[in-house]
Amino acid sequence: MTKLLFAGPVGSGKSTQAQLLSQYLDIPLFQTGQITRDLSKEDSPLGKRVRAIMERGELIDDETIAESLKQVLSKADLSRGFVIDGYPRSLEQLDLFNPGFDIVLNFKIPDSVVLERLLKRQRVDDTPEAIQKRLKIYYEQTQPLVKHFKTLGILKKIDAQKSIEEIQSEIRKVLKLNG
Ligand code: AMP
Repeated sequence: MTKLLFAGPVGSGKSTQAQLLSQYLDIPLFQTGQITRDLSKEDSPLGKRVRAIMERGELIDDETIAESLKQVLSKADLSRGFVIDGYPRSLEQLDLFNPGFDIVLNFKIPDSVVLERLLKRQRVDDTPEAIQKRLKIYYEQTQPLVKHFKTLGILKKIDAQKSIEEIQSEIRKVLKLNG
């Protein structure tokens, strides 16, 4: 049983890789970006609030995101492990809810490559301003969390500049998966 976290800045390709790996291992995948995108489509006060926050490139408040993820996890079969993409994003979020990861994959990529990649996408939160904001938040809030996992000895570095296929095979090698 493997409990995996995919961490890295916006545009690092971690979501694509998380999807590929969860399919390969046949274990559930939880993507908080997707959970919040679903919430943002709801015609409720919460949905509207989430949508406005996402369009600015800011983070949803810790309690809302922690509760949403906890709820989704509680309904799933986690007996063979899981892949989480996007939570926690700060030490505060880890304190609020700790899924107990075995391994954290840290996707490394220069900002210039992120900008180039994301401006090709068509998402509402992929404007240059929102991308810069998300990168800033990543360095300020998520990097201390990544350092924490490094101290615990469960952090593995992934070179996120390679092709999708190359990155996936690097991940499988790092996780010592055969085939
Ligand atoms: P992502 O697809 O992971 O880049 O997430 C897209 C957006 O969803 C983020 O910019 C946040 O607004 C929101 N989001 C996803 N995960 C979290 C989280 N752990 N904490 C707060 N906001 C989040």
